[in-house]
Amino acid sequence: MADIAENIQRSEAKPLFDLGVDETEYRLLTREGIRIEEIGGRRFLIVEPETISKLTDAAFSDVSHLFRTSHLKQLASILDDKEASENDLFVARELLKNAVISAEGQFPSCQDTGTAIVVGKKGQNVLVDGNLEAIISDGVERTWATKNLRFSQLAPLTMFEERNTGTNLPAQIDIEAVEGDAFKFLFVAKGGGSANKTFLFQQTPRIMDPVRLLEFLDEKIKTLGTTACPPYHLSIVIGGLTVEQTMKTVKMASCRAYDNLPSTGSPEGRAFRDHELEEKIHALTVSNGIGAQFGGKYFCHDVRVIRLPRHGASVPIGMGVSCSADRQIKAKITSEGAFLEQLETDVAQFLPSIDFEDREAVRIDLNRSVADICKDLSKLEIKTPVLLSGTVIVARDMVHAEMSKLLAQGKPLPDYIKDHPIYYAGPAKTPEGFASGSFGPTTAARMDPYVPELQTHGASLITIAKGNRSKTVVKSCEKHGGFFLGSIGGAAAVFGRDVIKSVEPIAFPEFGMEAVWKIEVEDFPAFVVIDDKGNDFFS
Ligand code: SF4
Repeated sequence: MADIAENIQRSEAKPLFDLGVDETEYRLLTREGIRIEEIGGRRFLIVEPETISKLTDAAFSDVSHLFRTSHLKQLASILDDKEASENDLFVARELLKNAVISAEGQFPSCQDTGTAIVVGKKGQNVLVDGNLEAIISDGVERTWATKNLRFSQLAPLTMFEERNTGTNLPAQIDIEAVEGDAFKFLFVAKGGGSANKTFLFQQTPRIMDPVRLLEFLDEKIKTLGTTACPPYHLSIVIGGLTVEQTMKTVKMASCRAYDNLPSTGSPEGRAFRDHELEEKIHALTVSNGIGAQFGGKYFCHDVRVIRLPRHGASVPIGMGVSCSADRQIKAKITSEGAFLEQLETDVAQFLPSIDFEDREAVRIDLNRSVADICKDLSKLEIKTPVLLSGTVIVARDMVHAEMSKLLAQGKPLPDYIKDHPIYYAGPAKTPEGFASGSFGPTTAARMDPYVPELQTHGASLITIAKGNRSKTVVKSCEKHGGFFLGSIGGAAAVFGRDVIKSVEPIAFPEFGMEAVWKIEVEDFPAFVVIDDKGNDFFS
């Protein structure tokens, strides 16, 4: 018994996640709705529900428009790196321009404004009257209703019938009971493309070898591709008592919430950061050549590797990223007030004084036949930057499914899908006085299965989106003389404010943001990724 008691005391004294001191800079949001009351001889922090809703609303508003200073510094440092590729520099500069625009508070930094995730730690001396999930959800709903964000959540009505909830709810809300008299939060807005690049690999203990582990990780990291809009904050977790713990740690580490973990393990099994392995993996990401979307060394800003205890028979390995919409913000409620992490509002300081807009981009006039545009594109090398001006048709998942149905029924395709380049995208809400909301590309690969049949019918010969595509698309472009142009993921505010000059819904308005839109663009930046000769930048 004495041994058990001693062990319990030991584990209480040494938590699994020893997070050290929180050095975050916070700003006071409000002191309203917070008071101390003594009940039964104990002091409690009483928090009004409205204060938590307000904090949630303010957190998601901030994080939709602002970034951490450290993230912006990393982007700016790319511009100072003599070894960065031209395309790395171009992407970094566009992402910084994007951050400047979104910081003005009208255009969210990305058109995919994400799933709302709230991780809370509620001290045992904090009392809130009401249903916490409803209180936090109310704050989420307010942000998405009042800001120019996009509703992303689909409710399943039956197994195959779905409907947008129109509120961006439900949110994922996980509240843990802890010691103390503070309520701490991490608010995360996670985009679909970014969430899709989260992986669990159930390995055996054989993987626990320095060479084998590194080879394994190298192979898996390459498969991340660029659909989650690099440069990434890459997070890898080795071990975990359960896969749920492994994957939650991946998420928290990608938000840099576990940066202050110790750098060594302990006999009790504490979590630790392996800085040496982080450096080795970062070197792999530099040398793989993928770069910040179109070739170079900036596939990742940084790497976190967390080692967790594990069952002797299991080696879960988790991997995930925080994308270019690096959206997380801490908050806390104490007896002093409700506080939010201070995100950077002076983004312009990170833009370089010397503009290097003069790089060699080829201007392409889209107001011609698709055949003529293809003739021009055919003269360009893979990776060539282009600036597109003219008419583009926007169509994504639901419209492609409809086109496929038409073909299956032996019906003709509409002219719009044949007469113009197709941009896979879906806008966020349009700010008042502007032509478009944030309107960046979505992941091209989801449309891959439709490309051969559409191109066979003379449609979708030029497509524009983000990320890599399958061999099927490469072969189809070679056979039908088609092209895939990669556009910069994560720069949606730039597209919405500066590049897209008009937006007009022309078909399927009932699909909401997935309708067919006819847009006019001016100097829309993209890169030749797949050409008509069987070349593919990502191969
Ligand atoms: S930056 Fe890219 S991956 Fe991230 S939310 Fe936006 S579109 Fe999705």
